[in-house]
Amino acid sequence: RISDRLSAVARLIPPGRIVADIGSDHAQLLVHLAEHQVLDRGIAGEVNRGPYENAADRVRESGWSDRIDVRLGDGLKVLRPGEADVVVLAGMGGSLIASILSRGKEKLDATTQLVLQPNNHGDQVRRWLLEQGWEIKQEELVKEGGILYEIVSASSGAPEHPYQGLPFSGDILRKLGPLLCRDRHPLLGERVAEEVDRLDRALDSLRSARTPEAQMRQQQLAADRRRWEEVQSWLSQ
Ligand code: SAM
Repeated sequence: RISDRLSAVARLIPPGRIVADIGSDHAQLLVHLAEHQVLDRGIAGEVNRGPYENAADRVRESGWSDRIDVRLGDGLKVLRPGEADVVVLAGMGGSLIASILSRGKEKLDATTQLVLQPNNHGDQVRRWLLEQGWEIKQEELVKEGGILYEIVSASSGAPEHPYQGLPFSGDILRKLGPLLCRDRHPLLGERVAEEVDRLDRALDSLRSARTPEAQMRQQQLAADRRRWEEVQSWLSQ
């Protein structure tokens, strides 16, 4: 059985696609897609030899070697241009995901869907998508082992302004996810509380600081905290 996090990623992938899972480690996602008959072909990419061997073993043991190719290499370099319909990057930091996509942009010409699950800095992923003309079509938030995970699925095509109609600034929406906000996702309150806690810890650590820089930082953090409190009160309406 795969984790709730990876199940939520799998649910966003339509049947019959050629799916590249970059940074696949154990290749669990592609094996799961093959077992549930929703996979045309899969490519598991890994930059590190240990996880690459894990993936190769897992695919061989699963009996899906005819359908899933395991390749050793950095990011999207393992793909031929136009090879994958869907590219998945899951379980990595948001800045690494954005950098892998940027460095391999030319491989995405025929890709119609990106499914991205950043472990942090989701705002960097959403910024990349917006700047590169990808439209966010679905977002999910799942909780596993006490940790909240966000998943963003985007399609190629000129986005309309995705942040219309919500009473927050772009930076807050990029952090929270515009569709999760629009839908008032049931776990969003917890996600917002995490941000407020993070700001409280930062404010605590500056409590006894007296330098002008620290005081300026305190004011910024306090202003940020007020903006997040506005999100909390909007959510509770
Ligand atoms: N995608 C799986 C999941 O969500 O459960 C595995 C996530 S694992 C924490 C991240 C994997 O990404 C590691 O196995 C790591 O070796 C791989 N990785 C990191 N940077 C990479 C890169 N530039 N290209 C390919 N794989 C990379």
